[in-house]
Amino acid sequence: FERLLTRIEVGTANARDMIALKVSLTCLPEIRAALENAKSPLIAECFRRMEIYTDLAELLERAIVDEPGTTLRDGGIIRDGYNEELDEYRRIAVGSKSMLQEIEERETGAERYITEELKEFETKILGAQEKIVSIEYRLFTEIRVVIKSHIAGIQQTAHRIAVLDVVAALAEGAVSHHYVRPAITSGGNIDIKDGRHPLVERILTRDLFVPNDTHLGHTDCEAMIITGPNMAGKSTYMRQVALITLMAQAGSFIPAREAAISPVDRIFTRIGASDDLASGQSTFMVEMNEVAEILKYATKDSLVILDEVGRGTSTFDGMSIARAVMEHIAKKIHAKTLFATHYHELTDLANDRIKNFCVAVKERGSEVVFLRRIVPGCTERSYGIHVAKLAGLPKAVTDRAEAILAQMESRGVRETVVPVGEGAEEAATAANKNAPEKPASPDIGMDSLFASTLRDTILSLDVMTMTPLEAMNELYRLQEQAKQEAGIR
Ligand code: ATP
Repeated sequence: FERLLTRIEVGTANARDMIALKVSLTCLPEIRAALENAKSPLIAECFRRMEIYTDLAELLERAIVDEPGTTLRDGGIIRDGYNEELDEYRRIAVGSKSMLQEIEERETGAERYITEELKEFETKILGAQEKIVSIEYRLFTEIRVVIKSHIAGIQQTAHRIAVLDVVAALAEGAVSHHYVRPAITSGGNIDIKDGRHPLVERILTRDLFVPNDTHLGHTDCEAMIITGPNMAGKSTYMRQVALITLMAQAGSFIPAREAAISPVDRIFTRIGASDDLASGQSTFMVEMNEVAEILKYATKDSLVILDEVGRGTSTFDGMSIARAVMEHIAKKIHAKTLFATHYHELTDLANDRIKNFCVAVKERGSEVVFLRRIVPGCTERSYGIHVAKLAGLPKAVTDRAEAILAQMESRGVRETVVPVGEGAEEAATAANKNAPEKPASPDIGMDSLFASTLRDTILSLDVMTMTPLEAMNELYRLQEQAKQEAGIR
């Protein structure tokens, strides 16, 4: 509706736009009647301010054919019976054509010729055709001017329709997906009971969405540091808090059991990795630019969502940046913050206002079950290798990764990483004394990778059921692989 009006205003609307406008205007009386008994002040106002433009709809109905062409210079726009002069020329054009046919039939011969009578008709037909097009164009532009003179009022009405459209869509969403009305408070807190992600809950087909609570407030929980395995649901949780806050603030019902939400001045997010090669920015540069914006503009009334800040660079740099960013927000900005990280070392930032949370998992033997529950506390493990297995990385690679992880953990690589922040310098010096000369570099050479692949292949052979020839062939194949491997190195 509104886009059409812009074209009418600048004078570029064609006849099809006018038909679209007619359709919109024709719907108005019914919409307005439906609003008559509305109690909501917003909708009552829509009712009061909406006009119905029956005259204009009738004018367009009378004047313009149902399926006009797109150009205005070819005629075929204006209905018969709308304008006498136009009808007259159309009669001439049609009549002349049939007379011309009569002459043609009377004078049939093989030679081309022209007669006085034919010449006269030619002029008349051509003239009538031109006249028709120019009259249609004139009539159309006159109609456009009439519509344009009502444009301000129609725009008002179009705006009300847009408001109703939004409100109706939110209402439909609220009813279909069991949303509730949040309380809007002024204390600066965000309290959500059994919140859900409005989109993820709809796309899950095999599992049920697990709702989670949130409490953010300046006195007791200004920031949540969320650790937990890959794929556990950290990003989903943080986004759901941002979306629920946004929806509440926009006047919508929300996907939760109940909630009390104080409006925020802005919602800042640093989520996902993408690069902007066109403008010469690497993934990490984009990430840092976004973090810089957040630190510059966030206030204590903002909601800040930070998802794995620092992951785009080396572990030590990333962890140091993540920690410094969190410290800065906690000490200087005091924005309500959700901070998801795989740097488990950051959980020691917890204090009376920064709280640790994690996503619960259950280990059943070597199986890991994601419970999707956000609970107080922190996890030690990321289960990244478990997710790598789920994603289908070759077994040889994930086995090797597990071996490397065990080696690194036993050498205490993680423990040498901690010190940043309060008393950081002394701690760093102490830690460096304890740290190995250089970071542990376990043997991740090709030999081991090949050996573990070889081992897997040999283990998978069912020797008892193989024929001697099959065994020979398998041995030959393994030897070929070994030769190739040796060749590469
Ligand atoms: P990573 O650390 O690897 O980025 P993550 O912890 O951020 O992972 P998400 O991307 O939030 O994990 O979630 C992974 C998937 O888990 C989602 O795509 C969704 O299918 C499912 N999921 C997340 N939260 C829930 C929930 N509350 N209930 C049910 N399923 C969920």
